[in-house]
Formats: sequence, C-alpha cells, structure tokens
Amino acid sequence: MTLAVSAAEDRGPVRLAGATRAELARALADLGVSDRERNMRVSQLWHWIYHRGARDFSSIRNIARPLLDRLGERHNLGRPEIVAEQVSADGTRKWLLRLPPVHARDKGAEIECVYIPESDRGTLCVSSQVGCTLNCSFCHTGTMPLVRNLTAAEIVGQVLVVRDRLGDFPGGVAPTDGLVPSGEGVRAVSNIVFMGMGEPLYNLEAVRDAIAVMTDGDGLSLSRRRITVSTSGVAPEMSRLGSECGTMLAVSLHATNNPLRDGLVPLNRKYPIEQLIQACRDYPGASNARRITFEYVMLKGVNDTAVEAKALVRLLKGLPAKINLIPFNPWPGSPFECSDWETIERFSEVVFNAGYASPVRTPRGRDILAACGQLKSESEKLRARARMMLEESLAVGQD
Ligand code: SAH
Ligand code: SF4
Repeated sequence: MTLAVSAAEDRGPVRLAGATRAELARALADLGVSDRERNMRVSQLWHWIYHRGARDFSSIRNIARPLLDRLGERHNLGRPEIVAEQVSADGTRKWLLRLPPVHARDKGAEIECVYIPESDRGTLCVSSQVGCTLNCSFCHTGTMPLVRNLTAAEIVGQVLVVRDRLGDFPGGVAPTDGLVPSGEGVRAVSNIVFMGMGEPLYNLEAVRDAIAVMTDGDGLSLSRRRITVSTSGVAPEMSRLGSECGTMLAVSLHATNNPLRDGLVPLNRKYPIEQLIQACRDYPGASNARRITFEYVMLKGVNDTAVEAKALVRLLKGLPAKINLIPFNPWPGSPFECSDWETIERFSEVVFNAGYASPVRTPRGRDILAACGQLKSESEKLRARARMMLEESLAVGQD
C-alpha cells in the first residue's frame, strides 16, 4: 500500500538550513524583527548559511547575540542526519540520510543521495521524494511502500550535508581518499541531478524553491545549466519546469512504442509518448546548446534491438536531443537483465550514426547499490525483512 503524506503537515518552522529567503524572512518576522531590518538580516543569514556553511547560530559573527539567541530558541541549522556512508571502489559515495519527523506519528523518513566524482566535476544525485508512487517495473525505488514529498529545505539539506562532508565550504577539510575533485576554482559539488528517489515533477513547487536556493548567486551559486531534472514523463508539468526553473531536462523514455512503454513506465498510460514528445518540443529554452537528454535503460531482450534504436532516432527527429544509454542496474529480485555489451554497442552505433551523441552511462557505484534505480534504503529492506518474518510467524501461528 502506498501512503501519501504531506510533508508540511503539523510542521513547525524549526530547521533553517535549506530555507528559502521567504522562509527566513518569516522566521525573523515571527521573532518581531521589523520590516526595515528584516531584509538585511535575511541577507546576513543567507550568507552565513549558504556561503560559509554555518552549522549553528553561535558561529555567526555580524548579527547581535540577542537575536541569534532568540533564533536559536526556535530554530537550528541542522542537516539531515548521516545514518550511513558507503564509498564504492570507483569513488562513488552513497549516504543514507534520516530526516527529522514531519508530524507526530512520523519516525523520520530515510532517503539516499549519491555523489559521483570525476576529474573536472562532482555530481550530486539528489532525491525529491521519499520513495516514488510511479512503480516503473525496472526501478528499485518504485518498490518502496511509503511515499511523501520532500520539502525544499530537505532537498537543499542534501547538498549542505554533502558539502560539509566533502569539505566544500570555506575552511572545510576534504576526505583523504583522494576521490574528491579539488584545485583552484574546482568545487567538490559542481553539478546536481534530480535522479535519486522520486519523481521531481510530482513535487514541482518544492523542487522549484530548492533550485532557487541552489542557484542564488549570494549563496550556493550553482549554475542552472549544471542542474538537470529527470522526469519519467509528467508531460503537463514540463513547461513549468522550463519556465520557472530554467534547468536542463532529462526524460526517461526507455521505449519507442506505447504498449512497451506502458509496461515499463506505467505513467505512459496517462501521458503517452506522443504527448510526452510534444511537451519536449515545447520545452522552454531547449536549443542545440541546451539539449534535452533522453534516458534509455538497456534491458536485455526487451527494448535493445537495432530496430528499436532506429525507431528512437525517428521519434526524436528535429528535437535538440542527447541520448543517454543506461545499462540496467540489477537489484535483488529485479525482473530484468542488462543487455549484453555488444548489443549496447550496436544500439549506440545506430544512434551515433544518426548524428546523436550517445554516451553509455558508465554504471557507477554498483557495488554499493548506488547506481541509477538501485536506491532504496537499506533500513527499508531490513524493515521489509522484519515484516516478512512477522508475516511468516503469524502464518505459522494460524496453522
Ligand atoms: N523519477 C525520475 C528521476 C529518478 S530515476 C525519472 O524516472 O526520471 C533516474 C533515472 O534512473 C531514470 O532515467 C530511471 O529510469 C533510471 N533507472 C531507474 N531504475 C534503473 C535501473 N535499475 N537501472 C538503470 N537505470 C534505472
Ligand atoms: Fe519513480 Fe523514476 Fe523509479 Fe519510475 S524510474 S519508479 S519515476 S524513481
């Protein structure tokens, strides 16, 4: 059963790390800070939280102590709690993060986020929801039973905690295993992809607010061109994403005909391929310099023939597109296998010969289940196991 719970339910404005400017202003107004003073205080807090990475009010130096003390009585600058960190042999890092409870009955949801270092960049893959309601048949996240939207602060919180951990704020210390890009002007986290748990366009307001915080030039200052939002195809929301966020778009296509896509991405029954492709044609800001990425997971014997590669090229004709072939990442109990390497190469060649860049996404962090579609918290699995044992013992009890 899927439970949808509103993240805002019963929630007081406690944590200010990840807050928008409007939320900071509201917190200050609630403390009686005058209209006249408020803008200045918001700018100061903003600078300390997002530029310097302050983790507590006591480290802030240009705001008078009494106001900081009052802020500290109601708020904090805490991050999501790191429950576990795994480092893959290839340098990919995965964190299991626990979020504070959002209502009285909540025990605190868990999400995962993944960091992929390369020589000239570091990409952080963030989650936008706890779990996902969409149940794509090849995706591990879709099997999680509990789903709720993350708040903007919880999305930004992932960036903050990872930057803390990687020493990416002024004065920070990078981990010593040498797998974090460094050097003059190089930022450990330079790119963000919304490709973790959840469907970002089912939580567009929070995703939009989080992107506004991430791209604010006085703070985290990430470039919109280095932020990519991946959708499984929520066609009606795509134009809002383009006009309100101005980020890069990735579309999880995976099939070129409706019957097959219906089976892989059930959302296709609601927004079929024709409607999805039209929404891509209408995507604000798409151009040859800002191409839409089409993700295509390579599933053995399902969608991986040269005929399908040709159909893909036909389907995308005239669109400013990049095609990203993703070798399927297996997970325990998954009903698919990854296509053979020769099959992937043949597919890639057809796409390449038609004039598209067709990089095959090197699976990163497979050994720690950090690759695309493998995210699902370990504790979730433990809970599932505990549930199974309980059910078994109940069944035994009924014998
Ligand atoms: N919900 C969004 C974003 C998160 S999924 C979406 O579906 O686009 C990020 C990407 O990983 C998507 O392209 C998704 O189709 C792909 N993916 C999911 N499970 C996968 C798996 N087991 N192996 C490879 N890619 C997978
Ligand atoms: Fe959700 Fe994306 Fe996984 Fe589909 S692929 S279940 S939309 S996270």
